[in-house]
Amino acid sequence: MRLFECGTLVPGCEWHTRANDDAEVVRRVVEHMRAAHGETVIRENMVENIKARIRNEATAA
Ligand SMILES: [Zn+2]
Repeated sequence: MRLFECGTLVPGCEWHTRANDDAEVVRRVVEHMRAAHGETVIRENMVENIKARIRNEATAA
């Protein structure tokens, strides 16, 4: 699984998400940025910032 923790980008935010692939993680993070942080315009460097912070999470299986 791929994991993104919003606190790595927005200090203090405890929201996080995980998905099977980066594209799905980015999609969810963009939604969260709009809803929770008022980022109405998602710039290209924002997507790059998100991708740079996605990390592998060991699966329990
Ligand atoms: Zn957040």
